[in-house]
Amino acid sequence: MAAHQARKRFGQNFLVDAGVIDAIVRAIDPGRADCMIEIGPGLSALTAPLLQRLDRLTVIEIDRDLAARLRTQYPGDRLRVVEGDALEVDFESFGERLRIVGNLPYNISTPLLFALMRFADCVADQHFMLQREVVDRMVAAPGSSDYSRLSVMLQLRYGMRKLFDVAPESFDPPPRVVSAIVRMVPLGPERLQPLNADFFEKVVQRAFSQRRKMLRGVMGDWVRAIPWDELGIEPTWRAEQVSAPAFVALADALFRAGVR
Ligand code: SAM
Repeated sequence: MAAHQARKRFGQNFLVDAGVIDAIVRAIDPGRADCMIEIGPGLSALTAPLLQRLDRLTVIEIDRDLAARLRTQYPGDRLRVVEGDALEVDFESFGERLRIVGNLPYNISTPLLFALMRFADCVADQHFMLQREVVDRMVAAPGSSDYSRLSVMLQLRYGMRKLFDVAPESFDPPPRVVSAIVRMVPLGPERLQPLNADFFEKVVQRAFSQRRKMLRGVMGDWVRAIPWDELGIEPTWRAEQVSAPAFVALADALFRAGVR
């Protein structure tokens, strides 16, 4: 088969380190009947060992040449190739208890994490390779410089754990940054939920829009409607000091006060 020239616009950095590939597949720990979806299979670095342990696998690949290659490499009853943009896929159509995996294209990783949140009810778990810096932000605790809008939004929806780092030399071509593997398990219906999800997102976005600024400066015309004492939040705090549950309490208080 002809060699494939890595395409930068699709974030193509192919895994080539057998030890790392093995460690990722062991962390995922596929069971034969799992309903697994791989985003961005590329040249099958993960696809091949996953298929050895699964009856069937669905992959989503945007690169037409790579999708065609996969179709010739594997029988259609074992590997279903969906050619398209993972950002636009309706994951619900794949079924329930989905196990989603992927060495994600870094250029779309944050929008993809947000897009997948919409399907969290039909997901059992997600294992992703991302830039280490993104994983650090996902799992960051309040008070740390990595704590951000991404941390708050994802921590309310998933239990998350950083598993291990992966060095640039494990890829061809090597990316400029260190990568890391993260495990994400959606939280159940008993999780803390804001009264209004869209308004909650707006509040978190505004609070982090100027993360160096105090809340009393950044929250604008909402400041007077915030019951600071009741919430146990100081107007002089910055967004990075507010825990995810405290953000829910803050957004709910504003929502109840009629702020939109
Ligand atoms: N899984 C392979 C590996 O580990 O070597 C390839 C990983 S490479 C970092 C990312 C893969 O995602 C590429 O195959 C790329 O073509 C594909 N890709 C990029 N953007 C995509 C998108 N929006 N939807 C689906 N696949 C995409």
